[in-house]
Amino acid sequence: MALVVQKYGGSSVADATCIKRVAQRIVATKKAGNDVVVAVSAMGDTTDDLLNLAEQVSPLPPARELDMLLTSGERISMALLAMAIANLGQEAHSFTGSQAGVITNATHGKARIIDVTPGRIREALDQGRIAIVAGFQGISQGTKDITTLGRGGTDTTAVALAAALEADVCEIYTDVDGVFTADPRIVPTARKIPGISYEEMMEMAACGAKVLHLRCVEYARRFNMPIHVRSSFSTKEGTWVVSDPYSEGTEMEQPIVSGVAHDRSEAKITVVGVPDKIGEAAAIVRTLADAEINIDMIVQNVSAAATGRTDISFTIPATDSQTALGALKKIQDQVGFESLRYDDQIGKISLIGAGMRSHPGITAKFFAALAGVGVNIEMISTSEIRISVIVAEDGVDAAVAAAHKAFDLDADEVEAVVYGGTGR
Ligand code: ADP
Ligand code: ASP
Ligand code: MG
Repeated sequence: MALVVQKYGGSSVADATCIKRVAQRIVATKKAGNDVVVAVSAMGDTTDDLLNLAEQVSPLPPARELDMLLTSGERISMALLAMAIANLGQEAHSFTGSQAGVITNATHGKARIIDVTPGRIREALDQGRIAIVAGFQGISQGTKDITTLGRGGTDTTAVALAAALEADVCEIYTDVDGVFTADPRIVPTARKIPGISYEEMMEMAACGAKVLHLRCVEYARRFNMPIHVRSSFSTKEGTWVVSDPYSEGTEMEQPIVSGVAHDRSEAKITVVGVPDKIGEAAAIVRTLADAEINIDMIVQNVSAAATGRTDISFTIPATDSQTALGALKKIQDQVGFESLRYDDQIGKISLIGAGMRSHPGITAKFFAALAGVGVNIEMISTSEIRISVIVAEDGVDAAVAAAHKAFDLDADEVEAVVYGGTGR
């Protein structure tokens, strides 16, 4: 008997019909002789709707209360799913994150899982039940308050449960047939990737391919938990995320470029006229770190000889913009910079592939592809297996399609189907 952890995303449980279809899948897995634990997301766009509601009553809602509100979405779907399963003659119990033993730190809105103590889940399994767990939530060890893991966090709940329960596999069910060479909503000719390494998938997720939550892939790598990403709307084999999909004996050859990811969620801030003195850049990034803001790319120009001043530009999550601008204004006099410039009409395009390590010329081909469609590059950053650029937001779609084509990733026949969801 195997232990299978399954995760169903919002679009897979968007309405009563979807919930009933998912219930059938779960029951079929159970009847095939497996123990089944399910992590479930809120129905459809519930989380966005709750966020809108919060904004209507307060422009900056207290983080503790926002988490309390957002976690209610998953309580609805978990209970409905347990009912639908009961209606099919199987026993299922639903559990909140806290009841399931998902223990986190106290950082509301982006809490980290620090431990999973799934005693009640084990008990439910031992009694022959299916366990349904509310995704994306936990309880803080210190404050005992309810926390959320960040948008898309149900993927992480699933992998964390799978690791704690020593499951055989973690299946992530979504609205596409697996991980593709680019977002199928933008590139209809994208190809399904049969197998991808944790390392590459981490870069894809970090660069905006939201099909998997970044923390979920980090967690899976740490515990060597195989993830099977597939559609809840079809029975096709999906994408296996494992440590080495290219090892001997497998049919896959390591590609130079595995995929193209894009991200529209960042904003660019330029600190204009920073005196070119030791410690100034440190003061700026320290201020942002103290405000718990993650900087992604950062660029400092050569200082102009005439003024002895330079500009420093960086990108951060757009949702942190107000906090960042406020914190920087406070240190303007101390650092002595001239002004701040802000731009959230940007996008990031990333080329990812473990094979890039040993192949020169990739950057040249990438930049030529962007130039070919008239897209200007504003910032650049690279790692061993990734090249990222910042471009104007209205050039993102064309840039992704051009890079995808330039690296021969286009499929001969369209195989990318988007079964549901709004892509929000
Ligand atoms: P869920 O609600 O199931 O968690 P998400 O919307 O979070 O689903 O993630 C699935 C979506 O991720 C797809 O509909 C697709 O638009 C998007 N996506 C972005 N990049 C990729 C990619 N490389 N491969 C597959 N899907 C991708
Ligand atoms: N419901 C949460 C969200 O929309 C968590 C998730 O779907 O994984 O972000
Ligand atoms: Mg998701």
